[in-house]
Amino acid sequence: MSNLQHIDDDSGARCVHCGAKAAGPCASCHSPVCGDCSTLTEGGVQVWAICLACANRKGRSLSGAWRSLVLWLAMLLAGIALVTWLLEKLLS
Ligand SMILES: [Zn+2]
Ligand SMILES: [Zn+2]
Repeated sequence: MSNLQHIDDDSGARCVHCGAKAAGPCASCHSPVCGDCSTLTEGGVQVWAICLACANRKGRSLSGAWRSLVLWLAMLLAGIALVTWLLEKLLS
């Protein structure tokens, strides 16, 4: 029939985000993604292409881990300050 349909039938894997011809699978979720919907991330010696959904998820989990770490450090410092203050009161 039309030439366009023939190209679509022959394209194989399609991008899961926009439906364009996929450039390759996401390194994280293995979904086929096109160049526009993927981002390059450097993991050690190799450069990986991951989809934007996985990039967002990774960013969120990283910021969440950072937040809990900062909170934990703040509580630790507050505890040390309290103990130091108590010791100073006891010793004076
Ligand atoms: Zn796409
Ligand atoms: Zn992915």
